[in-house]
Amino acid sequence: MHAMRLTAPHTPLEWVELPDRVPGPGEIRVRVGACGVCRTDLHVVDGDLPFPGHPVIPGHEIVGRIDMLGQGVEGLALGQRVGVPWLGHTCGACRYCHAGRENLCDHPLFTGYTRDGGYATAAIADARYAFPLGEEGDDVSLAPLLCAGLIGWRSLVMAGDDARSVGLYGFGAAAHIIAQVAIWQGRSVYGFTRPGDGPTQDFARSLGAAWAGGSDEPPPQPLDAAIIFAPVGALVPAALRAVRKGGRVVCAGIHMSDIPSFPYDLLWEERQLVSVANLTRQDGIDFLSLAPKAGIRTQTTRYALRDANQALADLRAGRFEGAAVLVP
Ligand SMILES: [Zn+2]
Ligand SMILES: [Zn+2]
Repeated sequence: MHAMRLTAPHTPLEWVELPDRVPGPGEIRVRVGACGVCRTDLHVVDGDLPFPGHPVIPGHEIVGRIDMLGQGVEGLALGQRVGVPWLGHTCGACRYCHAGRENLCDHPLFTGYTRDGGYATAAIADARYAFPLGEEGDDVSLAPLLCAGLIGWRSLVMAGDDARSVGLYGFGAAAHIIAQVAIWQGRSVYGFTRPGDGPTQDFARSLGAAWAGGSDEPPPQPLDAAIIFAPVGALVPAALRAVRKGGRVVCAGIHMSDIPSFPYDLLWEERQLVSVANLTRQDGIDFLSLAPKAGIRTQTTRYALRDANQALADLRAGRFEGAAVLVP
């Protein structure tokens, strides 16, 4: 197999040839058809997240077909198309796993971070954490659903059913998917971009946003909730300022720059500030069954697997709308 592998933080990924791996008990081997590029991959490469201490193949938005089954795998078949997300394994024994909050597991493995991911021609996955995807839609369009879609979905649920107007800060891969879901649910979406980023504001409006503007602008009226996808701490006080009394601000990213101090007035009147961490398998089941009904169309920019470093650089610089996807 071939892969783009990270040997140390702050270094480019390297094209490597590795021996084909055989899935262990309870595992599957997936022939990768497409793998999305997520901002978390940038945080791994840039050292914003602690380096796992060994070379790692990034990528946790994997779409592919099972080409080998490990011992004891049930409910999946050779040739079946599956998606492999960020949550790659949980312990099943800690208090969080017992409480149905496996996203907070004390001993998890994360695909493309603490276990090898999908910037490769093949990947090994724990069968229990792979989602059957059916045959509708092509691999490239589906890949961004596996993290941008899923984490966006968990964040939207966290925003609350009663949030009829929702601000999305950082209009990239996650926001462009979840805006479509929110609008399909009958909510109004307000897209916030980097100040002056007209093309992305146009993109948000083209997806049905009721309003789009810079993150330094107030929305036309106070919002019920806001979700922050951009890794920028200064957006926290900005989003608190944009929500009404009792409104909620959800931080959806795994990493964010420091949050500047802000007057208590912004939190006062029962505004809430919460974060979303990882996903549960139930999130995946719920979202992947809803996605076709909501008619989600992902906007993707395709890169050859070997061009993963270019895809990461383009994501860092905001050079495309929607999501980048690697194709082996
Ligand atoms: Zn656990
Ligand atoms: Zn991700």
